[in-house]
Amino acid sequence: MKVGFYGHVRQYHALKEELDAAIQEVLESGEYVLGPALARFEKELAAYFQMKNAIGVNSGTDALWLVFLALGIGPGDEVITTANTFFATAEAIWFTGAKAVFVDIEPDTCNIDPAQIEAAITPNTKAIVPVHLYGQTADMRAVAEIARRHGLFVVEDCAQAIDAHGDGFAVGELSDAVCTSFIIQKNLGAFGDGGAIITNRDDIVPAIRALRNHGSLKRSYHSMGYNSRLDDLHAAILSVKLKRITAWSDRRREIAAMYNDGLKRTSLKLPCERPGYRHVYHLYVIETLERDAILPYLNGAGVDAKLHYPIAIHQQAGYPWGKAADLNVQLPLTEKSAASVISLPMFPELEQAEIDYVIDTCRAWEDR
Ligand SMILES: *Cc1c(COP(=O)(O)O)cnc(C)c1O
Repeated sequence: MKVGFYGHVRQYHALKEELDAAIQEVLESGEYVLGPALARFEKELAAYFQMKNAIGVNSGTDALWLVFLALGIGPGDEVITTANTFFATAEAIWFTGAKAVFVDIEPDTCNIDPAQIEAAITPNTKAIVPVHLYGQTADMRAVAEIARRHGLFVVEDCAQAIDAHGDGFAVGELSDAVCTSFIIQKNLGAFGDGGAIITNRDDIVPAIRALRNHGSLKRSYHSMGYNSRLDDLHAAILSVKLKRITAWSDRRREIAAMYNDGLKRTSLKLPCERPGYRHVYHLYVIETLERDAILPYLNGAGVDAKLHYPIAIHQQAGYPWGKAADLNVQLPLTEKSAASVISLPMFPELEQAEIDYVIDTCRAWEDR
């Protein structure tokens, strides 16, 4: 049996009529860039987050970058984040000219360890960027409390965690802005690239709207900006999919529960879900010291397991790209996690026989 890692085409087929109609509508409208479909989706997205503003841009990377610029972060500044994330989190910091300062993770959730943040704060620190890794929010109460005491911005990298919440806090409630990604493989995905910034801070919205459109809020009038817009075609597709996000997350959680049950009493370290948190399992990540052996075994048996992320950012060849990089950085828990993580297939359209096969294949590895 073959079990794939993504369910993109299955998802398209399940929503084909509605998606095709939405796409057709945009095509017939003649308005493809900064048009009504984008305006409508931005309204829907803000309402979904129960926040005041949403601004569509062309990727999650740009969402981070443009927020940093709107907050005035640039050369000489430092931004605290983690190194066990997709490369883009740091890339967006580096693109402003600021330095990314990495702190280590909590070994169970793999999210930023708030207890280690304060030691990394210097007079140049401007912001903290918690990443809600794999679909579980970081400990935002602790992060926000530290940020408040030191006068720092907080920007949430929510690319993997739309529809998640903490124990009594929502995403966006305890920060300056939330950045998310709509690249196809994310939990809410366009058929291509996309991203958004969601924020209650009205004061940074005009800057972000200008930055995504060549520094222009009015035709022919420009300040320095860039070209980073969410296409109307993608916005219309996302409007159709946004209505399903809660049901899809519920299904991801159901599959996670089946994996948890099937894989308990094995040597595999299963994902940690904090009490009261809603983990939306963008990825179902297990850990084993035998990672480099089990991966080819699973792949050989037809299970398309993948690695997120086997090389932490400070271990990347591209790391010194940020000239302010600290090459002596020591992140033992991040490095341990990078060496042992493995992601099992996880998408809402997985069928029962596939879920069972993944579990059986992992168990066969244990019993070999
Ligand atoms: C996907 C992702 C990004 C970047 O989003 P793109 O839309 O691919 O630019 C940033 N941070 C994290 C944690 C991600 O998973």
